[in-house]
Order: sequence, then structure tokens, then C-alpha cells
Amino acid sequence: MVKVPRLIQVFNVQCVMCGRASGQLMNGTFVPNPRVKRPVPGKNGSRCGECGGNLYLEPDESVTPFMATQIAAQRTAAQQQAKASADALRAA
Ligand SMILES: [Zn+2]
Repeated sequence: MVKVPRLIQVFNVQCVMCGRASGQLMNGTFVPNPRVKRPVPGKNGSRCGECGGNLYLEPDESVTPFMATQIAAQRTAAQQQAKASADALRAA
């Protein structure tokens, strides 16, 4: 997988039946919620580990200070990269 600096996308993985959040999807990586049983694999995707209900993704806008730092670092890196390539073009 190619790493492209961009804003971190966070989704809550929520159950339609019991409303529990099984975890979060951060940049495509599932981070399980320690307070809820892990989702179980089903025929059509993962199911709630608590009640077996369908799971859906809900966009989460909340960003932790740690994540904000990460995002800021990624943005700075992207800007520096853009500047470096612009300089390289000018030098050529
Ligand atoms: Zn459930």
C-alpha cells in the first residue's frame, strides 16, 4: 500500500441492532473497542460480536490531540514535498 499524506479518515463501526460501537476504522485500519466484543466474520461482512447484528460505518469528526499532531505532521510533510518538487523543477 502506498502511503499518501492526507487527512485521517475515522469511522465508527456501529451495530444497527444494539447500537454498540465495535471499534473504529482509522485510515482503513480497524481499531477494536476494548469494551465491546470483537466483530465476528459473517457471510456479508463482519457482524456485531455482542448481538450478531449488521455493522455500519458512521463518519466520526472527533480527532484526538495525538491524531491532530499526526495530521499536522503529514500536512507539513506534504507541503515540504510539494515545495521540494517545485524547486527541483525550477532547477532543471
Ligand atoms: Zn449489536
